[in-house]
Amino acid sequence: MNYVMGYRCTLCGKEYEANLMDYTCPACGPKGILDVVYDYSQMKRQITREYFRDNKNFSMWRYGPMTTVMQNSLLERTAGGLDPGLPG
Ligand SMILES: [Zn+2]
Repeated sequence: MNYVMGYRCTLCGKEYEANLMDYTCPACGPKGILDVVYDYSQMKRQITREYFRDNKNFSMWRYGPMTTVMQNSLLERTAGGLDPGLPG
């Protein structure tokens, strides 16, 4: 599950769809950093104390649903310990 609703420019406040492939605001240019807009109400309903109690994944990906990472293959390749475990 991914809770990303989209992105919001920190300069002009314009919002963009979650499938935007740019890392900065197309209107503001390189200084228009985009913040991720999460659906916190949906996240709060699904990421509960029970979710953590029942989740036996103790790597950093325990928190994966609360990030922007959506690729399961990336999650599997980096599933070691609580460090980022960047693939070599
Ligand atoms: Zn902008």
